[in-house]
Amino acid sequence: MALPDVSEVKGFMPDDEGALLHRWALEQLPTGPALEVGTYAGKSAIYLGSAAAQVGGTVFTVDHHRGSEENQAGWEHHDPSTVDPEFGLMDTLGMFRKNIARAGLEEWVVAIVGPSTTVARWWRTPLSLLFIDGGHGVEPARADYRNWTPWVAPGGVLIIHDVFPDPADGGRPPYDDIYLPALASGEFAEVEAVGSMRVLRRVER
Ligand code: SAH
Ligand code: MG
Repeated sequence: MALPDVSEVKGFMPDDEGALLHRWALEQLPTGPALEVGTYAGKSAIYLGSAAAQVGGTVFTVDHHRGSEENQAGWEHHDPSTVDPEFGLMDTLGMFRKNIARAGLEEWVVAIVGPSTTVARWWRTPLSLLFIDGGHGVEPARADYRNWTPWVAPGGVLIIHDVFPDPADGGRPPYDDIYLPALASGEFAEVEAVGSMRVLRRVER
């Protein structure tokens, strides 16, 4: 099915990895909602959301919209246009809202604005697809693994971004603190890898 046009959307999602998200969302969304940790400007949410529009599903996307460590001033992935001058803090929520409206996906993509740990504390719904692309420090990665992966339903998939087995390619936490523990738990088995994306399916018992 047709992929969305994300050429004008800021973000961190190569075409082939976005296509992977879209394809898995088409397959999984008929069995339950999807949840993304790490919205930013909505690039990956548009890939997931366009699948939701096609099959009739819902995508929740969680972000405090204040940016990760690596998005802050002085870091590699900083974009000065994302800073709110009143607070001197990043604010990507407005950009996200415009992008979802332009893509015509407001009915299918639901933003949850707040810290991932706070949202997870009250979350109670099994997920057909969980996509983790939030904070890439050790603590946020461990928290996302611990708090969100239990909500992947039997037969559901856990998709992790920025998984770099070779330290020369990028930061460790998504690999060391999400991907490896998920495999070691025996709860998940790898079913696909594209670029830095890894797709793990919950093992049915
Ligand atoms: N998926 C996006 C990129 C996400 S960048 C895309 O396709 O372009 C990572 C995002 O995670 C940032 O927007 C940052 O604000 C968010 N984030 C980092 N730590 C977080 C936390 N603890 N709670 C909520 N959001 C967090
Ligand atoms: Mg990422």
